[in-house]
Amino acid sequence: MNPALNLVNVTLEYPDGDSALKALDAVDLRVDAGEFFSLVGPSGSGKSSLLAVAATLVRPGSGLVIIDGMDATGLKDSELTSLRREKVGIIFQQPNLLPSLTAVEQLIIGDHFRGKPTAGARKRATELLDVVGLGPSLNKRPHQLSGGQRQRVNIARALMGQPRVLLVDEPTAALDHERSESIVRLLRRVTDEFATATVMVTHDTEFLPLTDSVATMRDGRLGVGVPVSPTSPHRHPRLASSAREPWLRGPTQMSF
Ligand code: ADP
Ligand code: MG
Repeated sequence: MNPALNLVNVTLEYPDGDSALKALDAVDLRVDAGEFFSLVGPSGSGKSSLLAVAATLVRPGSGLVIIDGMDATGLKDSELTSLRREKVGIIFQQPNLLPSLTAVEQLIIGDHFRGKPTAGARKRATELLDVVGLGPSLNKRPHQLSGGQRQRVNIARALMGQPRVLLVDEPTAALDHERSESIVRLLRRVTDEFATATVMVTHDTEFLPLTDSVATMRDGRLGVGVPVSPTSPHRHPRLASSAREPWLRGPTQMSF
């Protein structure tokens, strides 16, 4: 099975005075459709850099970034932009909603940016806001929503383009415990329902059992992903085939 997201031997350096800082050092990562992968590690270890490279927002110094079978390495900027808009959903800690738009409009405007026809956009936006539990708040503006609700709009907006890969950077950092848990549960559910390959950077280790696999970053190096719990009750039965059980993937993963 082709992973929806595949990083192979990815390196990224930032200039640092006379030398260079290795933000990513020979990183390998593969995440399948419907897999919820969590990424932990100390501040400054390269987690956000990894997401930026996986999102094709930053080009790696070397290595391959393959999204839904397409190698992004040789693409021109305009082609990268199309690939990103068609395949990648990005959710950062701060939702960055436009203050004057209603929840449903926040989603529809994304389709404008994607250059897609807007016929059906309102219907899809309404359905997605229903999925994230905001059906009754379609017409509310950001200041009328709680922090948790704004993050839900953010998640629904990222799903508008029907992404294969969902990249989520500390989505709960600004939320209290209860809201954090419901956001991670929601990410679990959308990963199952939409079969996204979801990578979440998090400090909330108590929510790791809601995810499938976890790997630790340290000084730009990514440890091997390990299953969180083979019997997790949160795993979707539809996806429980041995083909995508990450703990059976060891030899493949090691073969890079
Ligand atoms: P994390 O998300 O794990 O906190 P980052 O990926 O943000 O880590 O950062 C990894 C390292 O790269 C850190 O040392 C950080 O200071 C450095 N870094 C991140 N972004 C830049 C940048 N745009 N320019 C220079 N250095 C950067
Ligand atoms: Mg970060």
